[in-house]
Amino acid sequence: MKNLVILGATGSIGTQTLEVVDALPDRLSVVGLSAHRSWQTLFEEARTHNPAWVTLTDGSLKEVVDGEALPDDSELLWGESGIHRMVTAEETDVVVAAMVGAAGLRGTIWALEAGKSVALANKESLVVGGPIVTELAERNGCSLLPIDSEHSAILQSMAGSPHREIERIILTASGGPFRTTPLESFEDITVEQALRHPTWQMGTKITIDSATMMNKTLEVIEAHWLFDLPAEKIDVVIHPQSMIHSMVEFVDGSVIAQLSPPDMRLPIQYALTYPDRLPGPARKLDLASLGRLDFEEPDLERYPALRLGFDVVKRRGTSGAALNAANEVAVARFLEGQIRFPDIVRLCEDILESHPFDSAPTLDVLLSVDQWARKEAEAWTRSVSSRF
Ligand code: NDP
Ligand code: MG
Repeated sequence: MKNLVILGATGSIGTQTLEVVDALPDRLSVVGLSAHRSWQTLFEEARTHNPAWVTLTDGSLKEVVDGEALPDDSELLWGESGIHRMVTAEETDVVVAAMVGAAGLRGTIWALEAGKSVALANKESLVVGGPIVTELAERNGCSLLPIDSEHSAILQSMAGSPHREIERIILTASGGPFRTTPLESFEDITVEQALRHPTWQMGTKITIDSATMMNKTLEVIEAHWLFDLPAEKIDVVIHPQSMIHSMVEFVDGSVIAQLSPPDMRLPIQYALTYPDRLPGPARKLDLASLGRLDFEEPDLERYPALRLGFDVVKRRGTSGAALNAANEVAVARFLEGQIRFPDIVRLCEDILESHPFDSAPTLDVLLSVDQWARKEAEAWTRSVSSRF
């Protein structure tokens, strides 16, 4: 039996993780759950899963929250100290890192420092803190397993092959909602259009990231750190059906792919039962009714974000932290209608280029670059929105 702490338990990944837990009651149980503001959903989850602790990270809710709605055997914790207590507790075996954004970095680091296994959905942890996170996992002998479907597919396709046998990995991308939209109309893309992803149901931020292709950029960086591969060994191909989740090409030319319907419960389950496979709740593949699988070269004019991921992998250091923070601000301001869709990537390019680069940063330096990039990005969005 593995005891889980789920950080970001009210989100798309968090709730699907609970479905996996429910399907595997002999293998998985929940000892801690966190949310930022959705306390009612969090407490409802606590009523069905009876964790020892629940944490709300937004401390401003203390006046509002009705503690009576929580089961008697669950203790309510607040803020980062609550996250720290849950992920480092002796009872905790695995931390599911499913918060959104750089806010997830500290939880991942604390879990690894305490020697816990981490099932990682929060790709931003690796984009911002790649060297620190991977080094910590290695030093403490912790397993750091991907939930992200592409990285899970790569892990599954590698099937334990030695690093020297890997020629390259091929990440698949659906192409998002604007794969065939005329380029001239990109300036007029609305929030509603960008939120309509063709194949995946996900949280708001990653849905916008998928529309800009920034999600694939973050995944290129994530793959670089997880699998220790240089930019030359990472490729991206558009695959609109999202059935092949990624592939590994070996030195002899053989390519192994992982296929399954777009259903995150499969990679979540694999990260939690690895290396075992068990019957679970994920939907099953029906190739005959699918009929065909398509592939296209990604067009960098349509998806300018894609270049940035490879830039970051080549430069490393603080560049991932700068890019990620700029993107978080840009997505939030796009959702509020303050900047246009193509501004998201323009802003990210500008901040990445101009940030105070450090090739071997400490965690403090990474966090200060994150703060610097957020301030600069806010100024950038103000200057653009005043022109509307
Ligand atoms: P959601 O927006 O659906 O959920 C985010 C979760 O994080 C919620 O529980 C939310 O709490 C919490 N949260 C939000 N802001 C903060 C904060 N500042 N501090 C602490 N907690 C916070 O996101 P997803 O589940 O879609 O994504 C989670 C992570 O998984 C992301 O990194 C994403 O890139 C990655 N991922 C997601 C996939 C998917 O299919 N959804 C696929 C692959 C990766 P509250 O509800 O209170 O706001
Ligand atoms: Mg993915």
